[in-house]
Amino acid sequence: MERNPPNFPELPLPENLERFPDLHPSLDARSAVTEANRCLSCFDAPCTAACPTHIDVPRFIKKIASGNLPGSARSILEANVLGLSCSRACPVEVLCEGACVMHRYNKKPIEIGRLQRYAMEDFFANWQASSPPPPVSHPQKVACVGGGPASLACAAELRRAGYAVTVFDNRPLPGGLATYGVAEYKLRSSDSQREVERLASLGVEFRQGEVGSDLSLEQLESEFTLVFLGLGLGAMQRLGIPGEQTPGVLDALTFIARYKTHPGFSVGRRVVVIGGGNTAIDAANAARRLGAEEVLLFYRRTESQMPAFPFEFEHSLVEGVKFHWLAQPLEIMVQNGRAAAVRFLRTRLAGPDTGGRRQPEAVAGSEFEVPCDLVIPALGQARLAEQWGQARGLRLEGGLIAVERGSGRTSNPRYYAGGDCVNGGREVVDAVADGKRAALAMKEAMNHG
Ligand code: SF4
Repeated sequence: MERNPPNFPELPLPENLERFPDLHPSLDARSAVTEANRCLSCFDAPCTAACPTHIDVPRFIKKIASGNLPGSARSILEANVLGLSCSRACPVEVLCEGACVMHRYNKKPIEIGRLQRYAMEDFFANWQASSPPPPVSHPQKVACVGGGPASLACAAELRRAGYAVTVFDNRPLPGGLATYGVAEYKLRSSDSQREVERLASLGVEFRQGEVGSDLSLEQLESEFTLVFLGLGLGAMQRLGIPGEQTPGVLDALTFIARYKTHPGFSVGRRVVVIGGGNTAIDAANAARRLGAEEVLLFYRRTESQMPAFPFEFEHSLVEGVKFHWLAQPLEIMVQNGRAAAVRFLRTRLAGPDTGGRRQPEAVAGSEFEVPCDLVIPALGQARLAEQWGQARGLRLEGGLIAVERGSGRTSNPRYYAGGDCVNGGREVVDAVADGKRAALAMKEAMNHG
């Protein structure tokens, strides 16, 4: 296994910077101070309570107002080691900013996300790996399997506490979805890599390779006292229709990773996206920005049943994505070895399923075809926990790893878990919170073990 790859490539590509200007541009110094001065520094701040990592929002904002940017960044990083990624990728509308008391006074909420980003960007603009990492002061070693936000947060917390920690990742760059899976206009891979570099400088070891094949589970358990599983989720689920394996069909996560890491990626003139979640929306917006004249998103239910956040939907309308409800794909039509069209069938909503959502059912004789250059299915991701459940006796629930709430401990006391492999796919900040909580419980277990 390769250890600590020393040179993280420079990402993203310059052309992407032009195509993917920020969704919310950076604040300049003057507007940051003005915005910070609007904050009421609420006692029992609801914004802090709404943040899964409980960043002390009024404290970091006050430091921006007083010109103490390094102090502000320290406050953020103490609570959330991925404070830069989260400042860009968090759906603040439903978290801290959604809870801001300004709503009660019919005023615009404080722009917490942009203020956090302002402090974080200043920090990373001046940050250099200089001093040697803190010494290892405990004999126990911890492995974090998976290189996404949950593992990174767990690793940072334990390393800060003096434990030797190794993060195992099977992809060339660590960071998981923060590096490969979040849309470019929200979070750039280069930002995620800066955070990874900082963790490496704090003494977290990174090894590239697959646990279970490059390193056996027996080797893993003989080298490490405890293991944190931040496996994330697997590949996107298939549509299960003919033509799906054809060139010109790319699932949404592969598509996002591809355009974030490949120069000159072309989408053609007309793109069809299939799905109704936030990832489908990210892919559709990206296809527009990559030059598609028309991006059509098809969902088998209606707007009100779409799982994407309403503000993501609104944003997509502004980007020019066209939404088509009540349609499900039947076949991807192939011409000259490439996807050339999708054949759909209209649906209507029938009775509610066990989750309370109404089930779509096919309308006979309603087939129609949509010609296109690229098809992007976005149906949710497969669950990866099965093999760990079997190999190490971890209890699973619905294909996800079952953990003790508050500690992340699995049914096997040597294993802890967090992030998407436990919650089924939530935000970067939720994964960070899981990693932090598990690290605290792991420290406790090692102190008393
Ligand atoms: S709720 Fe709003 S005003 Fe109050 S501390 Fe948080 S950001 Fe400031």
